[in-house]
Amino acid sequence: MKDKIQKIVVVGGGTAGWMSAALLKRVLGEQVSIELVESDAIGIVGVGEATIPPIQLVNKVLGLDEAEFLRETKATIKLAIRFENWRVNGESYYHTFGAPGRSQAFCHFHHYWVRARQAGDTSNLWDYDLNYICAEAGRFAKLKVDDPVWEMQYAYHFDASLYGQYLRRYSEKLGVNRTEGLIEQVSVNAENGHVESLTLKNGKEVAGDFFVDCSGTRGLLIQQHLGTGYEDWGHWLPCDRAMAVPSERFEKTVPFTRSIAHPAGWQWRIPLQHRNGNGLVYSSRHYSDDEAADILLNNLDSEAIAEPKIIPFRTGRARKQWNRNVVAIGLSSGFLEPLESTSIHLIQSAIVRLITLFPHAGVTRELTDEYNRQSQYEFEYIRDFIILHYYLNERGDSQFWRDVANMDVPERITEKIQLFRANGTLTKDNLDIFLESSWLQVMLGQGVMPEDYHPLADVLSAEQLRDKLAKTRETKLQPVPQIPSHDEFLEAFCKTD
Ligand SMILES: Cc1cc2nc3c(=O)[nH]c(=O)nc-3n(C[C@H](O)[C@H](O)[C@H](O)COP(=O)(O)OP(=O)(O)OC[C@H]3O[C@@H](n4cnc5c(N)ncnc54)[C@H](O)[C@@H]3O)c2cc1C
Repeated sequence: MKDKIQKIVVVGGGTAGWMSAALLKRVLGEQVSIELVESDAIGIVGVGEATIPPIQLVNKVLGLDEAEFLRETKATIKLAIRFENWRVNGESYYHTFGAPGRSQAFCHFHHYWVRARQAGDTSNLWDYDLNYICAEAGRFAKLKVDDPVWEMQYAYHFDASLYGQYLRRYSEKLGVNRTEGLIEQVSVNAENGHVESLTLKNGKEVAGDFFVDCSGTRGLLIQQHLGTGYEDWGHWLPCDRAMAVPSERFEKTVPFTRSIAHPAGWQWRIPLQHRNGNGLVYSSRHYSDDEAADILLNNLDSEAIAEPKIIPFRTGRARKQWNRNVVAIGLSSGFLEPLESTSIHLIQSAIVRLITLFPHAGVTRELTDEYNRQSQYEFEYIRDFIILHYYLNERGDSQFWRDVANMDVPERITEKIQLFRANGTLTKDNLDIFLESSWLQVMLGQGVMPEDYHPLADVLSAEQLRDKLAKTRETKLQPVPQIPSHDEFLEAFCKTD
């Protein structure tokens, strides 16, 4: 009989630590006690402001009130990311959380559009997507719809520090114990290599049966004590630094993230209720920190309100995200640049996976292997999707963009591009968090146009096809006049009386 897991220790109080503590306690309840250790001397990364729609599931499981959540974290709505200058300078496209047209069994809407286009139609695929229409118009509402064609999938932009504090208050109310102190020693069982306890600088000992390592990029347990090893993906994703700076609130908040390509990296602009989040992700081989600061500070919508902060990173993942009785969650488990806002989602997904495979009766090889298999694929699919944006650029205006356009990429990516280019086919694996519509938008946005389409799109006559497209556009536009501006929505929804 293996040892029963009764006490979980979470190491770290950043986004990963508090999300883990909150969700584990909420779901596992009295079955476990949870102690979270964090050190004021080290602090948190404190960036990470854009999310993707599954974050709503976290809020649901935690039972959070959405209006309170928006108020407490100064959040805004995110319908999409607008990629500017990514294919060529001066052009932009959206990756929305919506989908164009109306889904049809066996034949995605874009096949009809490709057929019409080949016959001379000049409409834009995004004109059939309500998320795009509302993002462009700066509008948002939580639509109550009977027809899924009007569903607007959305996520949030929020202040990462406020989010952490909010989850901390939530977790402590549920009974999570917080201990402040610098971990100086880690005791490991000599026989099985499991972590047994942590010793803090003040001499306090924190023992546990299971440890969740949320200690950030240092990977205090998973790397420094268990020596798990790290798979480096810098040859595919050469950016290795970020510079972040907040700026004053811009007059109007748009319901999307902006991602603006520059000669050796890209910049994010994220609107929050009280300020803007900005940052530049860049390759230190191509930009010095001074050059990066010039680019970032000269490309803000509003006045900077703090000094820029440099955050070096190494793209890749821990070789095993669960090793012995330690699961690494957050930056300790690996890092993928925030181009598609996936890190907070990876935290969420790791916690859900841990709960699903929870070792109530003790850690087994089967559980850890399955956990590590799923985590590996999930990371790799996101990595591939991010690579796609770089690889398909046609900028050619700097060594950086020429290098990434000419690199050897994982075969899975070239296969996906070839399939899509040949006849618009899109495939999806279960562990790929991106839907077909995501791959579709980025491939089209980056200039891959299918040469052919699915034969089912030929079932309609030319007139029926024209009619179908016109009606779909009309239907999508129908609710728009009643949808308030994003700022009007926020003001009304977040009101407290
Ligand atoms: C530039 C940048 C932009 C990003 N943007 C996004 C985004 O838009 N969307 C998104 O989803 N994600 C984004 N991310 C990722 C997101 O910021 C992270 O996933 C998130 O902050 C998780 O951090 P963490 O909790 O793992 O680590 P950290 O925030 O680094 O926290 C580490 C914790 O460990 C504790 N600790 C470490 N060592 C010790 C010790 N010895 N003793 C005691 N305590 C210790 C620290 O005190 C701290 O509490 C971004 C990341 C970067 C770098």
